[in-house]
Amino acid sequence: MTAFECTLCGKCCMHAGGELIEVEKRLTSRDFLCRQKIIGGTFRARIEERFLDAFRDASENKAHPSWCPFLRGLPGEEGKYVCTIHNSRPLICRSYTCCAMRIFGPDGREVGKVKGRRSLDTGDAALRRCWDESIAPLTTDDDIVWRTEVTGTLERAGYRVEAYE
Ligand code: SF4
Ligand code: SF4
Repeated sequence: MTAFECTLCGKCCMHAGGELIEVEKRLTSRDFLCRQKIIGGTFRARIEERFLDAFRDASENKAHPSWCPFLRGLPGEEGKYVCTIHNSRPLICRSYTCCAMRIFGPDGREVGKVKGRRSLDTGDAALRRCWDESIAPLTTDDDIVWRTEVTGTLERAGYRVEAYE
């Protein structure tokens, strides 16, 4: 398996961030007491030294209330976003992987992704059919067994699969 490489697109923190994290109190110029809204409990967030300047510019956040309060654009890199509390981000963010697998067709083009735990994201009708017929019926709860079976099934159907840890 390959290690997942985040492209810093920021989508995960734009769509769910605001529902996930709430700032309760500013403790110092860099530290915040925060609440994890979904699983409850508080944690201390510390803005990384390297992101202090980026953090100070909250103009984009004001226009996007669904964003996590700690998400910022990466200065000088259009379309890239960073978690300014990366080292002190909560467990729920540490364990999140947006893409469990990438699926490539015989010509090497990416034709689909497995998002979250087991959801296929594809616009490719043949892959969708293959998934619905051969993969959706798999019943195992064991994710490692499931990944092995999915990879084998897709490879026999002519696809190449990159599965992430
Ligand atoms: S984890 Fe995924 S959705 Fe989130 S920023 Fe990285 S590539 Fe984008
Ligand atoms: S704490 Fe960081 S990783 Fe978690 S939602 Fe906010 S910006 Fe994203």
